[in-house]
Amino acid sequence: MEKMPVRPADVMEIRPYQLLCLVCRLGRQNQEPYYFEEKLDELQKRIAANPFCVLKLRCDVESTFRFQNPGGADDTPEGKSFNRRRDLTVLQRLGLLPGAEVPACDLLRHLARPNVGIAAVRDICCFEHVTAPVWQGCRHGDSGNYERGFAKAIDVLMPGRDLATREACKKATADAMYQRRVLQIRPHHLLCMACFTANCRPGDNAPILEDNLYEAV
Ligand code: SF4
Repeated sequence: MEKMPVRPADVMEIRPYQLLCLVCRLGRQNQEPYYFEEKLDELQKRIAANPFCVLKLRCDVESTFRFQNPGGADDTPEGKSFNRRRDLTVLQRLGLLPGAEVPACDLLRHLARPNVGIAAVRDICCFEHVTAPVWQGCRHGDSGNYERGFAKAIDVLMPGRDLATREACKKATADAMYQRRVLQIRPHHLLCMACFTANCRPGDNAPILEDNLYEAV
């Protein structure tokens, strides 16, 4: 069987809070400026080009996680304590540790999970009760930008293929299958084929857009 070439991993290093800023920027209404816009542009471009690219979440913490510390070069101006807490809160809410490497598509889906994802930035980037100037929070915290961006993040950052593309792909792959003398399948595809036909009476089943099980049967 032909082996898939092993590609070197497409890895981009970001601070955890920058993933949220990417989502937040999608919801802005007046082109207000964001910190590290060029990095956010690159992040968005990398995800669009390859949703499986790996995001490495590094933050400015010490002790046993010093190994991954990128320093404070990407800190925003609210101060070190705020920057550290914001990054660590993002990681905690995502169930990740400093230095975690996760495919962008998984990370975004994780972020967007109903009820358990990060749907709002209150208590991460801004606070209801400001107890000291250092906890003033991000200038966009209460803008609603993140929450607006969150509602469309998956559709904008990882749009699926449109119907015409999927139909063209279906036709090309089904045609190719019918031309094969020998059909190469994975063993579990036998189960999928049985499952696909289980509830159909003879002559009842028909091709579907999502896969080529009908053609295999
Ligand atoms: S509120 Fe500020 S720090 Fe938080 S996601 Fe938006 S821009 Fe980033």
